[in-house]
Amino acid sequence: MNQPAPLLPRRSTRKVAVGPLAIGGDAPISVQSMTNVPTRDAQKCLEQITGLAQRGCELVRVAAATPEDTTALKTIVAQASVPIIADVHFHYRRALEAVEAGVAKIRLNPGNISDRQQVREVIAACRVNGVAIRIGVNEGSIVERRDEQKRQQEQCLPMAELMTAKLAEYVRIFEEASFENLVLSAKCHDAAGTIAVNRAISKLFDYPIHLGVTHAGDAMTGSIRSAAALGTLLAEGIGDTVRVSLTADPRVEVDVAWEILNTLGLRERIRPEIFACPTCGRTEVDIVAMTEQVKIALADVKAPITVAVMGCVVNGPGEAEHADIALCGGRDKCLIYRQGQKIATVPADKAIAALLVEIRKMIENSN
Ligand code: SF4
Repeated sequence: MNQPAPLLPRRSTRKVAVGPLAIGGDAPISVQSMTNVPTRDAQKCLEQITGLAQRGCELVRVAAATPEDTTALKTIVAQASVPIIADVHFHYRRALEAVEAGVAKIRLNPGNISDRQQVREVIAACRVNGVAIRIGVNEGSIVERRDEQKRQQEQCLPMAELMTAKLAEYVRIFEEASFENLVLSAKCHDAAGTIAVNRAISKLFDYPIHLGVTHAGDAMTGSIRSAAALGTLLAEGIGDTVRVSLTADPRVEVDVAWEILNTLGLRERIRPEIFACPTCGRTEVDIVAMTEQVKIALADVKAPITVAVMGCVVNGPGEAEHADIALCGGRDKCLIYRQGQKIATVPADKAIAALLVEIRKMIENSN
């Protein structure tokens, strides 16, 4: 059988410290997400951060839009179990306040802070406090901010080139101030654009790259767009931290990001891997509902166990051979396998409960 082509080696980049973590260099490709509750409500925000961290989120970004938000940041930073990134737009004072609150990193779009002296003040504060800065350019900010002269240029230049040129302009501001603790990002709403611009910036700069697709859509569409874009780039060795943006519970963003990294073999699995058959005319149980039940039951389990949920006892056992635990559904009875060996036959309506017992046993034995 032909082996799949190996992934390209990871691009060599600088290593940027983000609190106790690092992005780039030989640091693992990290998973990040963003809260969607008001930052000013520190307790609510912390609850969401805890939920994200339990799912494997390694860095959490929060909006720093108002003075109330940056006041709450002090509590959030002090109590969060993962490094906090402040997302700042328009108001450089929010960036200064976020640095004072102790964030590990700031996400800044210099394009929407027009006074360069203000940007330099933020740079100075980040330097003194060892805070990293992500400077990003999004397709939308290019389109929305064009004046007549730029519009003429844009008519002749592809979006990837325009975005790369804009990012280079931003990078210069930081390099002129000798600040190199930078992470770069360039996001489009589609996979093709995101791939093109990140390939371009990866050739120009050796700063680590934050990968993501902007306003990617709901859980299904956004996951597909993100998998296509991030998967392609990561397979080419491009990308040092990822954020999957979804119109969904942010914990799903974390699940999808891990799945992309795991399926490419770029990070070791920390949570269960669930396989399920696509169902066919032989299916005798409601595999869709059963798979969902297993997924929900294992949502907060932190163990790299593989679980297969198969729709029949004809092909199911063979196809689930590689799983640690497998359930093969029959009309009245289901078979349970542990590492390819049949260990139980159970009534179909008790199958999920029996499967979960076996999974818990296996996890306990491996601890
Ligand atoms: S495991 Fe059985 S039910 Fe599922 S797709 Fe294969 S043959 Fe069909």
